[in-house]
Amino acid sequence: MKVELLEEKTETKLLLNGCSVAMANAIRRAIINGVYTLAIDDVTIYKNTSSMFDEVLAARLGLIPIKTPIEVKGKGKFLLKLKEMGPKAVHASDLVSSDKDVVPAIPEMLIINLKDGESLELEAETTWGNGAIHTKFTPAHVYYHFYPKITIPNSSVKGAAKIASLCPVDILDGQKDSLSVKSGKLSECILCKACEDYAGSDVISISSEKDKIVFGIESWGQLSVKDIFNEAISTLEEEVKEISEKI
Ligand code: SF4
Repeated sequence: MKVELLEEKTETKLLLNGCSVAMANAIRRAIINGVYTLAIDDVTIYKNTSSMFDEVLAARLGLIPIKTPIEVKGKGKFLLKLKEMGPKAVHASDLVSSDKDVVPAIPEMLIINLKDGESLELEAETTWGNGAIHTKFTPAHVYYHFYPKITIPNSSVKGAAKIASLCPVDILDGQKDSLSVKSGKLSECILCKACEDYAGSDVISISSEKDKIVFGIESWGQLSVKDIFNEAISTLEEEVKEISEKI
């Protein structure tokens, strides 16, 4: 399998050449269920005079993605403390961590709006886990689809601008009687076929290349995309090794 980097923005898009759907799905599942990260799992609330119940507050804290640098792998638990008095909008960045590298990945995430006179004091302990245990440990949103193939057989296309305007991801260029795919945008086609349904397959035909897969990973912030991918592959290798040892 050959891997190419297609895009590195909010999400990272890879092109997996010579990859089967089964393999792409195995990697997706390994990322979602097999990669270990840190998340808040145990909360001791010393004081809470806000209108939010302790249980809701604890559940909310558990869903804050916590940076899990690869260097802390294997280390024990970490403590995050919070002591605030209203009026104040309390954000994830207000949690004071016992380790400067194990901190909330999205500092601006709102935890609670404390009104005048309301106060909060708590300690939150992290634990290790993966998505198979709880979705809060899942490090990323992952998806894949076949690499698109767009064929425009005729050099002159009537109503090109109208056809291009129907594309929900704006990858078609339609000017006068000329229809084409914008440069470097082919991989963004979501294979919806809105263009083909309108104009007919003799004007624009949408299909896909079966051995090429576009693989998208959007990290929630616990780990970098590279670390997520590497950890998922290690998980898969361990599982395959375990199977081979049992055969
Ligand atoms: S199939 Fe959908 S996304 Fe792809 S070019 Fe046509 S309209 Fe755009």
